[in-house]
Amino acid sequence: MSQIDDLPPLRAVLATHELNAKKALGQNFLLDLNLTQKIARTAGNLEGAHVVEVGPGPGGLTRAILSLGAERLTIIERDPRCLPALTEIADHYPGRVEIIEGDALKVDFAALAAGRPVKLIANLPYNVGTQLLVNWLLPGKWPPYWETLTLMFQKEVAQRIVADPGSNHYGRLGVLAGWRTEARIAFDVPPQAFTPPPKVTSSVVHLSPRLAPLAVEAAALEKVTQAAFGQRRKMLRQSLKGLGGESLLERAGIEPTRRAETLSVEEFCTLASALG
Ligand code: SAM
Repeated sequence: MSQIDDLPPLRAVLATHELNAKKALGQNFLLDLNLTQKIARTAGNLEGAHVVEVGPGPGGLTRAILSLGAERLTIIERDPRCLPALTEIADHYPGRVEIIEGDALKVDFAALAAGRPVKLIANLPYNVGTQLLVNWLLPGKWPPYWETLTLMFQKEVAQRIVADPGSNHYGRLGVLAGWRTEARIAFDVPPQAFTPPPKVTSSVVHLSPRLAPLAVEAAALEKVTQAAFGQRRKMLRQSLKGLGGESLLERAGIEPTRRAETLSVEEFCTLASALG
């Protein structure tokens, strides 16, 4: 393995700071710095960028981001046991790293960006990953405070994010992501790349904002996707009954006998506007 910095190998970092992985915090660590560099490179050129990383853990991805030239890196970690290892990294790259100890779900990311778009990069904890993504997809102001999202998910979640209509994976996440972003799976990462290995394959997803997504209220789009996919095997006239059923579908010009997974993102937007 080639060196990317003069800091100790990650296995030694885990041993020194007694960082045994905690399942409740979704801790599956990446210890191969070549792999973490590959993930960081997926975010594009980092030279001079402000990057925000959620869940740095012992800092494998953190070190990759810094080695690739990020000018500023804000890291948000919930597990206080990781802070000494992260402080060592911050000391190695003086003036470039800001450490926030706490729950990323409570962080105001727009305020962190402070008017200059950030690149968000993370090997996300599985238990809060989807909620964080939804929060990043639904800010009131668009284009958003981030310029790219480069995120590791369980492969099954990644497939839902990039899913097209007609696919078994297509649902609420695919509509929200497809509405506001161009999303693609960059590459898969096998379980054995992690310590400890999870049960399933993971995938790195890259999302960039669409500059002019269809104008529709995010809350209305959430409502129709939740109702439609909540009963995905039923015809829309049945699954959307609580939102107006046939009359809503008529206003939107959509056949009431269709099922949720056949509707394009544009048709979901039309439905959401008709809800208004
Ligand atoms: N980035 C490291 C890596 O790739 O080796 C660790 C990834 S591990 C999958 C997820 C990390 O997120 C853990 O370090 C965990 O403590 C942290 N974490 C879990 N829940 C969090 C939350 N709500 N806010 C911030 N960090 C969290």
